[in-house]
Amino acid sequence: MIDSTKHQGQRKQLIGKLREKGIKDELVLKAMMKVPRHLFMDSGLEDYAYVDKAYPIGADQTISQPYTVAFQTQLLGLQDGDRVLEIGTGSGYQTAVLMAFDSLKIFTIERQHELFKKTSLLFKKLKLRPRKVVFGDGYKGLPELAPFEAIIVTAGAPKVPKALLSQLAIGGRLVIPVGEKEQIMTRYIRKGEKDFDRQTFGEFRFVPMLKDRN
Ligand code: SAH
Repeated sequence: MIDSTKHQGQRKQLIGKLREKGIKDELVLKAMMKVPRHLFMDSGLEDYAYVDKAYPIGADQTISQPYTVAFQTQLLGLQDGDRVLEIGTGSGYQTAVLMAFDSLKIFTIERQHELFKKTSLLFKKLKLRPRKVVFGDGYKGLPELAPFEAIIVTAGAPKVPKALLSQLAIGGRLVIPVGEKEQIMTRYIRKGEKDFDRQTFGEFRFVPMLKDRN
C-alpha cells in the first residue's frame, strides 16, 4: 500500500484541476490531497486513479469521479464534530475523504455484500476506522444512530427517501442526486421539525440506488 511521490504529484495536479473546475472549499481540497485514490481502485486501473473520471469497482458499481466527490463534499458544508452518514460505501474512497477531515464521525452503508466485505477489509488494511460500516439498505438510513448533521447519497435515487430526511438533525444537510437516468444534485437543509429548504445544483450521472439486496 504505497503512496509514492509520483502518486502524490499526480494527485496535486488533480487537485489543481478540481480548483479550475470550480471547487473552492479548501478543507475539501486538503482532504482530497490526503487520500491516495489509487488504493481504492481495482487492480489494473491504478494508473487512472488521478484521472477525473469514474471507474468500475466490480459488482456493476463505480468509484465516483473525483469532481463529483469534491462537489458533493463541498455541498455538505461540514463542521467539526459533525455526524455524517454516507449511503453507498462502494470502493470506500468517498468515506476516506470524509475521514480525512479528522474531526467527523462517519457512518456508511453498503447494500452489496461483495463490496461491503471487500471495502471493510480495505479499511482495516489502511487503518481507517469509520464509526460504523453497515451492510444494509440505505433507503432506511440508520434510525438507531440518528440524527446526523450531514447525509450524503452516492447513488442515484429515483426519489428522496423520507427516512433520510427524518434522520437529519435540525440544521442538517442531505446531499442526494435525484432522478432515474440522469440525476439532479439536490441539497435539503432541515430548518425545523417539518421544514426543509431545497436547492438544486445541476445534472450528474450516478449508478442507481437499488432496493432489495443481492
Ligand atoms: N461512494 C462510493 C460510490 C460507489 S457507487 C465510492 O466513492 O466509491 C454507489 C454505491 O451505492 C454502490 O456501491 C452501490 O452498491 C451502493 N448502493 C446502491 N443502492 C444502495 C442502497 N439502497 N443502500 C446502500 N448502498 C447502495
